[in-house]
Amino acid sequence: MQDQIDNLPKFAKDKHKENKTFFTKLKKKPPKHLDYLMQELHDNEFERTDCLECANCCKTTGPLFTDKDIQRISKFFKMKEQQFIETYLHLDEENDYVLKAVPCTFLGSDNYCSIYHVRPKACQEFPHTDRKKFQQISHLTLKNVAICPAAYNIVEEMKRRIQL
Ligand code: SF4
Ligand code: SF4
Repeated sequence: MQDQIDNLPKFAKDKHKENKTFFTKLKKKPPKHLDYLMQELHDNEFERTDCLECANCCKTTGPLFTDKDIQRISKFFKMKEQQFIETYLHLDEENDYVLKAVPCTFLGSDNYCSIYHVRPKACQEFPHTDRKKFQQISHLTLKNVAICPAAYNIVEEMKRRIQL
């Protein structure tokens, strides 16, 4: 898998124009069964993909932390919310709390997440490929295919399965 991860930015770059055109058309005319299809493609891909062999999302891009995430995770650490924020987070240019650094502080050398059961919502949902009305997050998906091999494969399969 490491080979695919290493080559992913290049693969994604090569496909960027094609993917952009596909998502522009998808947004204009999403098929009626899109939610259903995305669930199928997502489930099939994650049956084959072992995130513990990858963890590229945790290594290269951090999640944003909502207020609820901060409450839940600081409680888990028995820290005050402000203390948690000061220790691990900073505000980005869009005023969202994000990690001070990547790879994520909570990622172990075995690729396990040390806060898995309380991890941020954004981590739980990444790469968002089973999300309803998937066409609405195409801008995000265009970026995620360069980070996540599963998202890349799902988009390739989408292009095979959806004739626009
Ligand atoms: S969600 Fe994607 S990038 Fe993250 S560990 Fe799984 S396959 Fe890798
Ligand atoms: S909190 Fe856990 S799942 Fe989220 S980026 Fe960090 S290690 Fe990965």
